[in-house]
Amino acid sequence: MTPSCTDGVENLAGNCVFCEIIEGRRKAEILHEDSEVLAFRDILPQAPTHILIIPKAHFPSAAAADPALWGKVMTVAVKLAAELGIEAEGFRLVINNGPKAGQTIPHLHVHLLAGRSFRWPPG
Ligand code: AMP
Ligand code: ZN
Repeated sequence: MTPSCTDGVENLAGNCVFCEIIEGRRKAEILHEDSEVLAFRDILPQAPTHILIIPKAHFPSAAAADPALWGKVMTVAVKLAAELGIEAEGFRLVINNGPKAGQTIPHLHVHLLAGRSFRWPPG
């Protein structure tokens, strides 16, 4: 069964910040919404453009995600890059998965970053 925002086990007893945004209980600057995917601006931007793209279903990590959702989340990310006019200059898509990667919110999300140069390898 697909985990939902109101699933107490999967979203840490309803304590997930991103589920709160999905449910409209927390404000966010939303750039895209459909039945399965939401995209909104990061509250602490690490680049001039910093957007988070998330599945509406609560998956705590990349490994836990329903494979069918990957295409939908990535399609929204690329569509937003085109709409925002950052396709030509370049953008970065990032998933921090787990503590050593710096994941702080246990709800799968893809960062879309643009508007400055990024180093490789990442820090
Ligand atoms: P990560 O560290 O990969 O788990 O990314 C979590 C991201 O969520 C960080 O970039 C935070 O700045 C961002 N964030 C946390 N709370 C909010 C919020 N209420 N609205 C928008 N972005 C948030
Ligand atoms: Zn959640």
